[in-house]
Amino acid sequence: LNLNNARYEITAVKPDQYPKNDIPEVTFVGRSNVGKSSLINAMLNRKNLARVAATPGKTRLINFYNIDDQLYFVDLPGYGFAKVSKSMKASWKDVIETYLSERKQLRKIFLLVDIRHSPTSDDILMHEWLKSMERSYVIVATKLDKVPRSKIKERISDIRSTLKLEEHIKIIPFSSETKQGRDELWEEIL
Ligand code: GDP
Repeated sequence: LNLNNARYEITAVKPDQYPKNDIPEVTFVGRSNVGKSSLINAMLNRKNLARVAATPGKTRLINFYNIDDQLYFVDLPGYGFAKVSKSMKASWKDVIETYLSERKQLRKIFLLVDIRHSPTSDDILMHEWLKSMERSYVIVATKLDKVPRSKIKERISDIRSTLKLEEHIKIIPFSSETKQGRDELWEEIL
């Protein structure tokens, strides 16, 4: 997999706008501002491929990043942004749920949560919904560099218990700043 051949390919809202091929996909989902764009950039050794938003949560679009014509990173819109209308929230939910439930090429879902805080009610809902699907998923605890080393274990077990994770579900601590967790996440993807 040649990471130098990673590129933004297309933005979609509806299934008929998704790429039309059989390349396998992994997707990243999480609350807006959780560090999703930063993670995608860190995974692909780029600074600005995925846009790190100045104002969080403004888009409800799905971005597809093509990696060497062998894999897509699918960037789902961040959820849980308070300052939007009810109808906007509903259409958001629809965009995310339609992709997750209908996309055949999707191999694995990465649910991002901020390692510093207990998962929010939106995170819990998202996880409940993932759990109910016949899909493989992994939790990524972002912004690892922001917690002292002595607190990491405690934060991970809080995330595990708040989400009521089944034992076999992995949590990968990750930092886009230090790139900790990057190898483990790539291993999980490949
Ligand atoms: P998104 O809305 O989920 O795409 O989140 P972004 O990637 O735009 O990140 C939101 C904010 O958190 C930005 O200010 C980032 O610089 C910061 N951030 C993201 N990941 C990390 C990380 O691993 N460590 C630190 N210290 N800051 C991060």
